[in-house]
Amino acid sequence: MPRRRCAAVVAVLALGACTAQPGSAPSVVHLRPLAAGTRSVAGHSVQGRELTVYRMGSATAKRRVLVIGVIHGDEVAGRRIALSLLHLDVPAGTSLWVVPDGNPDGVAAHTRQNAHRVDLNRNFSYDWAPIGRPGDQQYSGPRALSEPESAALSDLVRRLRPAVTVWFHQPVGVVDESGGSVSVEQRFANTLGEPLRRMTRYHGSATGWQNHGYPGTTAFVVELPRHPTDALDQRAVRAIQNLL
Ligand SMILES: [Zn+2]
Repeated sequence: MPRRRCAAVVAVLALGACTAQPGSAPSVVHLRPLAAGTRSVAGHSVQGRELTVYRMGSATAKRRVLVIGVIHGDEVAGRRIALSLLHLDVPAGTSLWVVPDGNPDGVAAHTRQNAHRVDLNRNFSYDWAPIGRPGDQQYSGPRALSEPESAALSDLVRRLRPAVTVWFHQPVGVVDESGGSVSVEQRFANTLGEPLRRMTRYHGSATGWQNHGYPGTTAFVVELPRHPTDALDQRAVRAIQNLL
């Protein structure tokens, strides 16, 4: 049950506090993490669904880690892991930001793409290229950041400047060497119990944009298996804790 809502993520970052909802007692929220995280809205999907972002830890923490549970709407295993992160205590000086679902229209429709039939992970602004047409598996959209979901997630990254970002996908069962720190990726892979491998780098991908645009930070793809076990979910949570 969210206790507070922020008008925008930027408000959390700038002020370190959210606006209290009517009727709730005013309080400072950045001193202690809430049990289920502090909730705000990073943006909205084509069909108006919220892209919800939760913060555990201090809004002013220097080291920030971001987890995106879903970007391809038919690869939803990461959402379960993301939701179990909302109850974590994080070390002082760090914060964990979690978007359980970055493509809620795709999840609702069980499609990889968003409601404009765009592959959001080909729609980011670094090395964007026209790919396919609406509905094609990797249709990259009419232009970079044409989609509200990719625009909102880009804005979130721009504001947060996370040291590490994890983007969950399925179903390959590997940690992708995505262009950031290989040692960060390797450690994650070791804890997860899946191999580290360099997969194809695509035009307009989220990790490509982050690793190019924010040198010294690391964004990588975690391809969960098709049928992750509870034990694997728990190892994923531990691997994310290690990033903090
Ligand atoms: Zn994917």
